[in-house]
Amino acid sequence: MTYKIYPLDLGTFEAMETSNLLYQVNPGVKVRQPILAWLILGGEEPILVDTGGSDEEWAKQYHHGLQRSSEQTIEAQLQKHGVHPDEINIVINTHLHWDHCFQNNKFKNAHFYVQKKELMAAVVPLPTQKGYYETEIAGVIPSWMETFDRMKVVDGDSKLREGIELVHLPGHTVGLQGVLVETKNGPYLIASDTIGVYENWEGNDKLAHIPQGIHWSLEDYFRTFEKMEKLGAKVLPAHDMRVLEHEYYE
Ligand SMILES: [Zn+2]
Repeated sequence: MTYKIYPLDLGTFEAMETSNLLYQVNPGVKVRQPILAWLILGGEEPILVDTGGSDEEWAKQYHHGLQRSSEQTIEAQLQKHGVHPDEINIVINTHLHWDHCFQNNKFKNAHFYVQKKELMAAVVPLPTQKGYYETEIAGVIPSWMETFDRMKVVDGDSKLREGIELVHLPGHTVGLQGVLVETKNGPYLIASDTIGVYENWEGNDKLAHIPQGIHWSLEDYFRTFEKMEKLGAKVLPAHDMRVLEHEYYE
């Protein structure tokens, strides 16, 4: 079985701090960053990876503000590929930061694959990550909790379908998982926030690979880079505008 991977354009952070994405690189310099999800087609049924962030109002109130047009709703993005949210039975949540799982509740027939460590961490996050998980905001039930009853908890690396594997990549968060997808031209790794932009993977003159400024464990992060090297896959980043220059990846 081989697949095609379609990036879904779910809005933009207009001015994101570079050093959030690339640890200690260019502090104070702001960049545009897309909010992405991924649709995997070619198998028996469509598979969605992540569900994107909130609407503009919510983002402004509780997070970093974002911009989202009517073409950038998840419904509109899926419709471009002839897929209705009700047809999605499988969603992979790479991790439970709000900009990756906020719209889980739009998929009423789906089960949500998430790592055990991620779910545990989302309940009691590190102090630096509470906001990203929407934990401990007065009066707010975190978005990922709304679909808690339909979560499928995975513990470590696991094969989801022929040609689709969930790969535990701790670092940015403790239970982040990437998705390794077989395509006509070899494997791709949907690396989620492990690789925010291509430079995280390509490195610079000091580091072969650069962690995100937002991280749970640097030690885990560097071990994850070693694991990724062994996979030998092409890497797809989570917040790089250049991803949208291609309609699909294979
Ligand atoms: Zn994240």
